[in-house]
Amino acid sequence: MKKIAILGSTGSIGTQTLEVVRANGDIEVTALSAGKNIRLLAQQIREFRPRIAAVWEEADAKELRLLVADLPVTVVSGMEGLKEVAVCEETQVLVTAIVGMIGIVPTIEAIKAGKDIALANKETLVTAGHIIMPLAKEHGVRILPVDSEHSAIFQALNGEDGRAIDKILLTASGGPFRGRTYCELEKVRVEDALKHPNWAMGQKITIDSASMVNKGLEVMEARWLFGTDLDQIQVVIQPQSIIHSMVQFADGAVIAQLGTPDMKLPIQYALYYPQRRFLAGERLDFAKIGSITFEDPDLDTFLGLKYAFEAARTGGSMPTVFNAANERAVSKFLNRQIGFTDIYEIIRFCMDEHQVIASPDVDQILNTEQAVYDIIESRW
Ligand code: NDP
Repeated sequence: MKKIAILGSTGSIGTQTLEVVRANGDIEVTALSAGKNIRLLAQQIREFRPRIAAVWEEADAKELRLLVADLPVTVVSGMEGLKEVAVCEETQVLVTAIVGMIGIVPTIEAIKAGKDIALANKETLVTAGHIIMPLAKEHGVRILPVDSEHSAIFQALNGEDGRAIDKILLTASGGPFRGRTYCELEKVRVEDALKHPNWAMGQKITIDSASMVNKGLEVMEARWLFGTDLDQIQVVIQPQSIIHSMVQFADGAVIAQLGTPDMKLPIQYALYYPQRRFLAGERLDFAKIGSITFEDPDLDTFLGLKYAFEAARTGGSMPTVFNAANERAVSKFLNRQIGFTDIYEIIRFCMDEHQVIASPDVDQILNTEQAVYDIIESRW
């Protein structure tokens, strides 16, 4: 039986991971962690019987202990709790479905403990890819992508020589505002931005998809996962979200992975890799689809993608600034404190203010994150 632990089990990816576990019936869940949603976590503990469960606040941990007092589970809290979940002895694969840079430290601990990582938490690679990838190599652990685009690339590369990659074609739906002008974006509301045309995801990533910041983060994630130059990554808009990404090889051949938009496919692929299992759900009906269309991204409108390429090219601590500025700006947008295009302005301001650290260690990354939050709180 495969043994997995999940960081962020109450979120969009976390709950879908547990759906995959439920449907297959041959995976044991060793540890779970959540932020605030202790009611759902208590239900998950009751159903999946992990040995360890972590929440962020000790007060929530106390409440959770009462809810699951009849079960043999140890409830822990804070960063130490996340680390315990990450290194839980029997675990073979850690699913990083937590949101934000809080995932960096537990992911590093898991790698050091020899766990394979099913990586959804892209912020870890965006900000600390230069630490994570060599560490994974050193400890002989696999970083298995969960993000649908990266899973598609991973699947397209199956059995191929990575050195023969000519170009990664990272597809994007373009989000709910594809075709709009910058002026139009200034007026969009939270409700509009939360309406993704094809994917049901957590709130933060849904806003990131609308701003195309998410695609920028994915460019940085792809660069670390597949060891390519930035110039080898091209973003292609494919509004139907049927092609999840493609790889063009040295001989001009292009291999793509297609499917209905369902995150359970990449999650299951990462959990069982290299096995491919049955997954219930809709299948593609090409006659019904009729056509799959392509266009270039509009970098003058969707500045999030433009700034992401700039941050990635600068490297060092700049991707951390990009990510942290966006994270705080999105939270302000969701709280209706700022407008949609202010997200871009905040990112721009923070990037302009920053003195780059060439190869930041984890403390420097986390200090940079905090410094960005402080700047934003003092001005917006
Ligand atoms: P959600 O917001 O739905 O879930 C986030 C999870 O992290 C929740 O379980 C939440 O707990 C937990 N969490 C948040 N803060 C803390 C904390 N301080 N301590 C412990 N746990 C915490 O996010 P998604 O599932 O959408 O995304 C997760 C990651 O996966 C992100 O990095 C995202 O970019 C990436 N991703 C998501 C995709 C998707 O389809 N959703 C697709 C590809 C990548 P709680 O809810 O209990 O507070």
